[in-house]
Amino acid sequence: MIVVIGSINMDLVLRVARMPLPGETLTGGAFRTIPGGKGANQAVACARLGRTPVAMVGCVGDDAFGATLRTALATDGIDVSHVSVLPGVATGVASILVDAQGQNSIVIAGGANDLLTPALVDAALPLIARASIVVLQLETPLDTVRHAIAVAHGLGKTVVLNPAPAATLPAGVLAQVDYLVPNEIEAAMLLGADTAVQPAAAALRAAGCGNVLVTLGAKGVHASLADGSHDFPACAVDAVDTTAAGDTFIGGFVAALAAGADPASAIDLGQRAAAIGVTRHGAQTSIPYLNELEPT
Ligand code: ATP
Repeated sequence: MIVVIGSINMDLVLRVARMPLPGETLTGGAFRTIPGGKGANQAVACARLGRTPVAMVGCVGDDAFGATLRTALATDGIDVSHVSVLPGVATGVASILVDAQGQNSIVIAGGANDLLTPALVDAALPLIARASIVVLQLETPLDTVRHAIAVAHGLGKTVVLNPAPAATLPAGVLAQVDYLVPNEIEAAMLLGADTAVQPAAAALRAAGCGNVLVTLGAKGVHASLADGSHDFPACAVDAVDTTAAGDTFIGGFVAALAAGADPASAIDLGQRAAAIGVTRHGAQTSIPYLNELEPT
Protein backbone atom coordinates (compact mmCIF):
# COMPACT_ATOMS: atom_id res chain seq x y z
CA MET A 1 0.00 0.00 0.00
CA ILE A 2 1.03 3.63 -0.64
CA VAL A 3 -0.08 6.14 2.02
CA VAL A 4 -0.17 9.83 1.05
CA ILE A 5 -0.39 12.29 3.95
CA GLY A 6 -1.22 15.84 2.88
CA SER A 7 -3.46 18.58 1.57
CA ILE A 8 -6.81 18.40 -0.18
CA ASN A 9 -8.03 21.58 -1.92
CA MET A 10 -10.68 22.71 -4.33
CA ASP A 11 -9.03 24.83 -7.04
CA LEU A 12 -11.27 27.77 -8.03
CA VAL A 13 -9.89 28.62 -11.47
CA LEU A 14 -10.88 31.84 -13.24
CA ARG A 15 -9.53 32.43 -16.77
CA VAL A 16 -9.28 36.16 -17.47
CA ALA A 17 -7.95 38.27 -20.36
CA ARG A 18 -5.56 40.04 -17.99
CA MET A 19 -4.94 40.33 -14.26
CA PRO A 20 -7.16 42.93 -12.51
CA LEU A 21 -5.52 46.01 -11.00
CA PRO A 22 -6.04 46.68 -7.27
CA GLY A 23 -9.65 47.87 -6.78
CA GLU A 24 -10.66 46.94 -10.36
CA THR A 25 -13.55 44.62 -11.30
CA LEU A 26 -13.18 42.62 -14.52
CA THR A 27 -16.04 40.77 -16.22
CA GLY A 28 -16.06 38.00 -18.79
CA GLY A 29 -13.95 35.41 -16.96
CA ALA A 30 -14.58 31.67 -17.38
CA PHE A 31 -14.85 29.74 -14.08
CA ARG A 32 -14.16 26.08 -13.19
CA THR A 33 -13.78 24.16 -9.94
CA ILE A 34 -11.08 21.48 -10.22
CA PRO A 35 -9.99 19.07 -7.44
CA GLY A 36 -6.44 19.85 -6.31
CA GLY A 37 -4.10 20.13 -3.34
CA LYS A 38 -0.61 18.63 -3.57
CA GLY A 39 -1.45 15.68 -1.30
CA ALA A 40 -4.63 14.74 -3.12
CA ASN A 41 -3.01 15.25 -6.54
CA GLN A 42 -0.15 12.92 -5.61
CA ALA A 43 -2.57 10.30 -4.23
CA VAL A 44 -4.59 10.43 -7.45
CA ALA A 45 -1.43 10.16 -9.56
CA CYS A 46 -0.26 7.13 -7.53
CA ALA A 47 -3.66 5.48 -8.02
CA ARG A 48 -3.97 6.20 -11.77
CA LEU A 49 -0.36 5.29 -12.61
CA GLY A 50 -0.02 1.97 -10.77
CA ARG A 51 -1.81 -1.01 -9.31
CA THR A 52 -0.68 -0.70 -5.66
CA PRO A 53 -3.58 0.27 -3.34
CA VAL A 54 -3.44 3.93 -2.22
CA ALA A 55 -4.77 5.52 1.00
CA MET A 56 -4.99 9.22 1.82
CA VAL A 57 -4.61 10.84 5.24
CA GLY A 58 -5.91 14.42 5.36
CA CYS A 59 -8.75 16.72 6.30
CA VAL A 60 -11.68 18.41 4.58
CA GLY A 61 -14.46 20.57 6.03
CA ASP A 62 -18.12 19.56 6.32
CA ASP A 63 -19.05 21.68 3.30
CA ALA A 64 -19.95 20.91 -0.32
CA PHE A 65 -16.32 21.13 -1.53
CA GLY A 66 -15.23 18.65 1.14
CA ALA A 67 -17.88 16.13 0.12
CA THR A 68 -17.00 16.51 -3.58
CA LEU A 69 -13.26 16.11 -2.96
CA ARG A 70 -13.67 13.05 -0.73
CA THR A 71 -15.91 11.44 -3.37
CA ALA A 72 -13.41 12.32 -6.13
CA LEU A 73 -10.61 10.53 -4.24
CA ALA A 74 -12.82 7.48 -3.63
CA THR A 75 -13.79 7.42 -7.32
CA ASP A 76 -10.09 7.00 -8.11
CA GLY A 77 -10.12 3.93 -5.83
CA ILE A 78 -8.31 5.70 -2.98
CA ASP A 79 -9.03 4.60 0.62
CA VAL A 80 -10.53 7.74 2.26
CA SER A 81 -11.23 6.19 5.68
CA HIS A 82 -8.64 8.58 7.16
CA VAL A 83 -9.76 11.67 5.27
CA SER A 84 -11.37 13.37 8.26
CA VAL A 85 -14.43 15.57 7.80
CA LEU A 86 -14.05 18.39 10.33
CA PRO A 87 -17.29 20.01 11.52
CA GLY A 88 -17.66 23.78 11.20
CA VAL A 89 -14.45 24.15 9.17
CA ALA A 90 -14.02 25.25 5.55
CA THR A 91 -12.37 22.88 3.08
CA GLY A 92 -9.04 24.16 1.71
CA VAL A 93 -9.32 26.24 -1.45
CA ALA A 94 -6.86 27.67 -3.96
CA SER A 95 -8.16 30.74 -5.77
CA ILE A 96 -6.35 30.80 -9.13
CA LEU A 97 -6.43 33.54 -11.77
CA VAL A 98 -4.98 32.56 -15.18
CA ASP A 99 -4.48 35.28 -17.80
CA ALA A 100 -4.36 34.97 -21.60
CA GLN A 101 -0.57 34.47 -21.47
CA GLY A 102 -1.02 31.49 -19.13
CA GLN A 103 0.49 33.40 -16.17
CA ASN A 104 -1.26 32.61 -12.92
CA SER A 105 -1.63 34.18 -9.51
CA ILE A 106 -2.77 31.98 -6.65
CA VAL A 107 -4.06 32.51 -3.12
CA ILE A 108 -4.48 29.43 -0.90
CA ALA A 109 -6.73 29.28 2.17
CA GLY A 110 -5.60 26.13 3.97
CA GLY A 111 -8.83 25.67 5.95
CA ALA A 112 -9.18 22.06 7.13
CA ASN A 113 -5.64 21.24 5.89
CA ASP A 114 -4.27 23.47 8.66
CA LEU A 115 -5.98 21.19 11.22
CA LEU A 116 -4.26 17.94 10.25
CA THR A 117 -2.69 17.11 13.62
CA PRO A 118 -0.09 14.53 14.76
CA ALA A 119 -2.99 12.81 16.58
CA LEU A 120 -4.83 12.28 13.27
CA VAL A 121 -1.63 10.76 11.85
CA ASP A 122 -1.43 8.44 14.87
CA ALA A 123 -5.06 7.46 14.29
CA ALA A 124 -3.98 6.31 10.81
CA LEU A 125 -1.18 4.08 12.18
CA PRO A 126 -2.94 0.86 11.10
CA LEU A 127 -2.82 2.16 7.49
CA ILE A 128 0.75 3.42 7.75
CA ALA A 129 1.85 0.08 9.20
CA ARG A 130 0.54 -1.65 6.03
CA ALA A 131 2.29 0.78 3.66
CA SER A 132 5.52 0.18 1.80
CA ILE A 133 5.86 3.88 0.86
CA VAL A 134 4.65 7.00 2.69
CA VAL A 135 4.46 10.25 0.67
CA LEU A 136 4.37 13.76 2.17
CA GLN A 137 4.46 17.44 1.13
CA LEU A 138 4.47 20.74 3.07
CA GLU A 139 0.90 22.05 2.56
CA THR A 140 -0.12 20.78 6.03
CA PRO A 141 1.35 21.89 9.40
CA LEU A 142 5.10 21.32 9.64
CA ASP A 143 4.83 19.70 13.11
CA THR A 144 2.49 17.10 11.65
CA VAL A 145 4.73 16.44 8.63
CA ARG A 146 7.72 16.07 10.93
CA HIS A 147 5.81 13.67 13.21
CA ALA A 148 4.57 11.60 10.27
CA ILE A 149 8.07 11.33 8.81
CA ALA A 150 9.45 10.17 12.17
CA VAL A 151 6.65 7.58 12.54
CA ALA A 152 7.02 6.23 9.00
CA HIS A 153 10.82 6.14 9.21
CA GLY A 154 10.61 4.43 12.62
CA LEU A 155 8.41 1.74 11.08
CA GLY A 156 10.98 1.18 8.32
CA LYS A 157 8.81 2.60 5.53
CA THR A 158 10.24 4.26 2.42
CA VAL A 159 9.64 7.98 3.01
CA VAL A 160 9.14 10.29 -0.01
CA LEU A 161 9.05 14.03 0.73
CA ASN A 162 8.09 16.72 -1.79
CA PRO A 163 9.21 19.85 0.13
CA ALA A 164 6.59 22.09 -1.52
CA PRO A 165 5.70 24.88 -1.13
CA ALA A 166 9.31 25.96 -0.56
CA ALA A 167 10.27 26.06 3.13
CA THR A 168 13.16 25.38 5.44
CA LEU A 169 13.10 22.16 7.47
CA PRO A 170 14.24 21.52 11.04
CA ALA A 171 17.58 19.70 11.41
CA GLY A 172 17.31 15.94 11.44
CA VAL A 173 14.25 15.65 9.18
CA LEU A 174 16.21 15.08 5.96
CA ALA A 175 18.05 12.13 7.49
CA GLN A 176 14.68 10.32 7.77
CA VAL A 177 13.79 10.86 4.10
CA ASP A 178 14.58 8.18 1.51
CA TYR A 179 13.58 10.21 -1.58
CA LEU A 180 13.54 14.01 -1.45
CA VAL A 181 11.84 15.49 -4.55
CA PRO A 182 12.19 19.31 -4.67
CA ASN A 183 12.10 21.61 -7.70
CA GLU A 184 15.04 24.02 -8.12
CA ILE A 185 13.46 26.75 -5.95
CA GLU A 186 12.61 24.33 -3.15
CA ALA A 187 16.12 22.83 -3.23
CA ALA A 188 17.64 26.32 -2.86
CA MET A 189 15.26 27.14 0.01
CA LEU A 190 16.21 23.95 1.89
CA LEU A 191 19.89 24.78 1.51
CA GLY A 192 19.42 28.47 2.31
CA ALA A 193 21.53 29.29 -0.75
CA ASP A 194 21.03 29.60 -4.50
CA THR A 195 23.34 26.78 -5.57
CA ALA A 196 23.66 25.14 -9.01
CA VAL A 197 21.51 22.03 -9.35
CA GLN A 198 24.21 19.34 -9.20
CA PRO A 199 25.96 20.62 -6.05
CA ALA A 200 22.54 21.36 -4.47
CA ALA A 201 21.41 17.76 -4.95
CA ALA A 202 24.73 16.46 -3.64
CA ALA A 203 24.53 18.77 -0.60
CA LEU A 204 21.00 17.63 0.22
CA ARG A 205 22.14 14.02 -0.02
CA ALA A 206 25.05 14.83 2.25
CA ALA A 207 22.48 16.24 4.72
CA GLY A 208 21.20 12.69 5.06
CA CYS A 209 18.54 12.04 2.38
CA GLY A 210 18.94 8.64 0.79
CA ASN A 211 18.25 9.99 -2.71
CA VAL A 212 17.51 13.47 -4.13
CA LEU A 213 15.52 14.07 -7.32
CA VAL A 214 15.47 17.73 -8.40
CA THR A 215 12.71 18.35 -10.97
CA LEU A 216 13.66 20.90 -13.60
CA GLY A 217 10.43 21.46 -15.55
CA ALA A 218 11.01 21.07 -19.32
CA LYS A 219 14.67 20.22 -18.58
CA GLY A 220 13.74 16.97 -16.79
CA VAL A 221 15.21 15.63 -13.55
CA HIS A 222 18.64 15.69 -11.95
CA ALA A 223 19.04 12.79 -9.52
CA SER A 224 21.65 12.19 -6.85
CA LEU A 225 21.13 8.50 -6.08
CA ALA A 226 22.98 5.93 -4.02
CA ASP A 227 24.84 4.86 -7.20
CA GLY A 228 25.82 8.41 -8.29
CA SER A 229 24.45 11.44 -10.14
CA HIS A 230 22.33 11.18 -13.28
CA ASP A 231 20.49 13.56 -15.60
CA PHE A 232 17.17 12.44 -17.08
CA PRO A 233 15.89 14.65 -19.94
CA ALA A 234 12.15 15.44 -20.02
CA CYS A 235 9.91 14.15 -22.82
CA ALA A 236 9.46 16.80 -25.54
CA VAL A 237 5.82 17.97 -25.65
CA ASP A 238 3.89 21.21 -26.29
CA ALA A 239 2.95 22.18 -22.73
CA VAL A 240 -0.30 24.13 -22.21
CA ASP A 241 -0.59 24.07 -18.39
CA THR A 242 2.08 22.81 -15.96
CA THR A 243 -0.23 22.78 -12.92
CA ALA A 244 0.43 19.56 -10.95
CA ALA A 245 3.38 18.55 -13.19
CA GLY A 246 5.45 17.87 -10.08
CA ASP A 247 2.58 15.98 -8.43
CA THR A 248 2.07 13.80 -11.51
CA PHE A 249 5.80 13.08 -11.69
CA ILE A 250 5.89 12.08 -8.01
CA GLY A 251 2.78 9.90 -8.31
CA GLY A 252 4.20 8.05 -11.31
CA PHE A 253 7.60 7.69 -9.67
CA VAL A 254 6.12 6.33 -6.42
CA ALA A 255 3.67 4.00 -8.18
CA ALA A 256 6.55 2.48 -10.18
CA LEU A 257 8.77 2.22 -7.12
CA ALA A 258 5.97 0.45 -5.22
CA ALA A 259 5.68 -2.02 -8.10
CA GLY A 260 9.38 -2.89 -7.71
CA ALA A 261 10.96 -0.65 -10.37
CA ASP A 262 14.49 0.67 -9.86
CA PRO A 263 14.79 4.46 -9.34
CA ALA A 264 15.86 5.18 -12.94
CA SER A 265 12.87 3.30 -14.40
CA ALA A 266 10.55 4.94 -11.86
CA ILE A 267 11.86 8.41 -12.85
CA ASP A 268 11.21 7.50 -16.48
CA LEU A 269 7.59 6.55 -15.79
CA GLY A 270 7.06 9.69 -13.70
CA GLN A 271 8.39 11.89 -16.49
CA ARG A 272 6.33 10.20 -19.19
CA ALA A 273 3.20 10.72 -17.06
CA ALA A 274 4.04 14.38 -16.26
CA ALA A 275 4.68 15.09 -19.96
CA ILE A 276 1.12 13.99 -20.77
CA GLY A 277 -0.20 16.00 -17.80
CA VAL A 278 1.29 19.29 -19.03
CA THR A 279 -0.57 18.96 -22.35
CA ARG A 280 -3.88 19.21 -20.42
CA HIS A 281 -5.48 21.85 -18.21
CA GLY A 282 -6.01 21.74 -14.44
CA ALA A 283 -4.69 19.68 -11.54
CA GLN A 284 -6.42 16.30 -11.11
CA THR A 285 -8.13 16.71 -14.49
CA SER A 286 -4.70 16.54 -16.17
CA ILE A 287 -3.30 13.41 -14.48
CA PRO A 288 -3.14 10.49 -16.95
CA TYR A 289 -3.83 6.78 -16.39
CA LEU A 290 -1.20 4.06 -16.79
CA ASN A 291 -2.82 2.78 -20.00
CA GLU A 292 -2.31 6.21 -21.66
CA LEU A 293 1.49 5.98 -21.38
CA GLU A 294 3.41 4.88 -24.46
CA PRO A 295 5.04 1.50 -23.92
CA THR A 296 8.85 1.82 -23.55
P1 ATP B 1 4.19 22.15 -10.10
O1 ATP B 1 4.45 22.94 -8.84
O2 ATP B 1 3.53 22.95 -11.20
O3 ATP B 1 3.50 20.85 -9.87
P2 ATP B 1 7.01 21.59 -10.08
O4 ATP B 1 7.77 22.89 -10.09
O5 ATP B 1 6.88 20.86 -8.80
O6 ATP B 1 5.58 21.80 -10.74
P3 ATP B 1 8.45 20.83 -12.47
O7 ATP B 1 9.90 20.72 -12.17
O8 ATP B 1 7.97 22.05 -13.16
O9 ATP B 1 7.64 20.57 -11.11
O10 ATP B 1 7.96 19.59 -13.34
C1 ATP B 1 7.97 18.25 -12.85
C2 ATP B 1 8.25 17.31 -13.98
O11 ATP B 1 7.19 17.46 -14.96
C3 ATP B 1 9.54 17.59 -14.74
O12 ATP B 1 10.66 16.98 -14.11
C4 ATP B 1 9.21 16.99 -16.10
O13 ATP B 1 9.36 15.59 -16.08
C5 ATP B 1 7.72 17.31 -16.26
N1 ATP B 1 7.52 18.58 -17.00
C6 ATP B 1 7.27 19.81 -16.47
N2 ATP B 1 7.17 20.74 -17.45
C7 ATP B 1 7.37 20.09 -18.63
C8 ATP B 1 7.39 20.47 -20.00
N3 ATP B 1 7.19 21.75 -20.37
N4 ATP B 1 7.64 19.52 -20.92
C9 ATP B 1 7.84 18.22 -20.58
N5 ATP B 1 7.83 17.79 -19.28
C10 ATP B 1 7.60 18.70 -18.32
